[in-house]
Amino acid sequence: MTTAPSPTSPDWHARAGALRADGRAVVDGRRVPAADGAEFEKRSPVDGRILGVVARCGSTDVDRAVAAARAAFDDGRWARQPPAARKKVLLRFAEHILAARDELALLDTLDMGKPIRYSTSVDVPATARCIAWYAEAIDKLYDEIAPTGPGALALVTREPMGVIGAIVPWNYPMIMAAWKLGPALASGNSVVLKPSEKSPFSATRLAELALEAGLPPGVFNVVPGFGHEAGEALALHPDVDAIGFTGSTRVGRRMLEYAGRSNLKRVYNELGGKSAFIVFPDFHDLDRAAATAAGAMFFNQGESCNAPSRLLVHRSIADDFVQRVSALAPRYQPGDPLDGNTEMGALVDATQLRTVLGYIEAGHDEGARCVTGGRQVRAESGGHYVEPTVFDGVRNDMKIAREEIFGPVLSVIRFADEAEAVRLANESSYGLQASVWSSGLDRAHRVARALRAGTVHVNQYDEDDITVPFGGYKQSGNGRDKSLHAFDKYTELKTTWLRL
Ligand code: NAD
Repeated sequence: MTTAPSPTSPDWHARAGALRADGRAVVDGRRVPAADGAEFEKRSPVDGRILGVVARCGSTDVDRAVAAARAAFDDGRWARQPPAARKKVLLRFAEHILAARDELALLDTLDMGKPIRYSTSVDVPATARCIAWYAEAIDKLYDEIAPTGPGALALVTREPMGVIGAIVPWNYPMIMAAWKLGPALASGNSVVLKPSEKSPFSATRLAELALEAGLPPGVFNVVPGFGHEAGEALALHPDVDAIGFTGSTRVGRRMLEYAGRSNLKRVYNELGGKSAFIVFPDFHDLDRAAATAAGAMFFNQGESCNAPSRLLVHRSIADDFVQRVSALAPRYQPGDPLDGNTEMGALVDATQLRTVLGYIEAGHDEGARCVTGGRQVRAESGGHYVEPTVFDGVRNDMKIAREEIFGPVLSVIRFADEAEAVRLANESSYGLQASVWSSGLDRAHRVARALRAGTVHVNQYDEDDITVPFGGYKQSGNGRDKSLHAFDKYTELKTTWLRL
């Protein structure tokens, strides 16, 4: 393992300058350019620098990657290894990830703009922990014997599905990949991963680290490229057994269409959110509630599916609470992501910058009141930065309350009583997360039970662990990432009857 400097180490700029980002695909254990030589230049949202060239994979590349994954699956080089053997390789893979912490963290920070302090302290460790956790789990799962009659025996066994297509977004490039890779690889599948065109570099590096750790060639392939090219080819491919997708609800819909048009492959969608953060006047520590709301909202530049972007506050404390949240804004002023003290970094690209500024304009147009922020800053850096922004006086039917902005924009909506709070929270096409803040045990339980969301937090928002499921109700998706439940996505149950 390399010894890593602290995240506040001053030499991140020097390291960034020396970094070599390799965007070629990884197919059957080898680095390869796209079959037709197509590639594109990837710029950093931090300062506009060119990071490297990326293979622009298309259907020929996807065919090759799927064929390699199928061959690896069929000959059993991974799928038929004893669980303990797969565990050993995956634990080594997790160690290699930790050993490459600085390099992987820099790749993600430069690729999508998050602060280096968080890519080193959150993204890389969470990625390694996810792989290690599924490695540790796989030799502790037992198959079942069903309680049938005395003349027969029914064995219920779990088998890997085959070839899994993983299509992931750019906001947590490595963690989103690991949530698919961990359970899919541990249970014996082969994987073809399509990272976002906005953050391709850490994914291809992960595949190299897996090979170095002993994962057989062909088991984990990476096809960088665009959604409508590599992504579509993978999701339509007739020899892919399941798609683990994380991304927007718009593209999630297309995943279901692709499956319908091809081989009815399983589709697991982890999609967008517009999570409600509900504060009742009986909560005893409004400073902590405000700090948590701001911290969770502005973490990752607001580019988190579970950002609590609708702040529902009881009208009796709303003025005071909005003041407390807005007072925290200076802490989240965007800064240089390569500075170890920066809390909030750059938005992922110029398109995302325009989208976020467009929502801010829509908030003004619809009559919401901008209490703090609302402007682009640091334009002279060549990167894409927006201030932490709070709108008060928002109604739940406004665009900024209904649609996922995916930027640092918080909408404050006032409510009169508990019933209205629950109604407003649930009046959304999304249902990813929610939180309720109340010192009344009965109210906290009652509201938590009434909220239609995959995760509900009570009097906090930051707890998270690989051991618990993550996913949404309604148009936030289906299936669950993380926890033992994720094995259900990448395994088939087989019933075998025996006559006794
Ligand atoms: P996106 O849907 O634009 O893209 C996601 C992936 O799909 C990318 O790899 C992209 O190249 C690919 N893609 C795009 N169009 C495609 C097409 N037509 N066919 C096949 N593939 C295609 O999403 P994004 O902008 O990368 O990520 C942001 C979204 O991800 C947000 O909505 C966010 O809420 C969501 N997200 C959800 C979770 C979760 O666990 N629920 C976690 C992180 C992000």
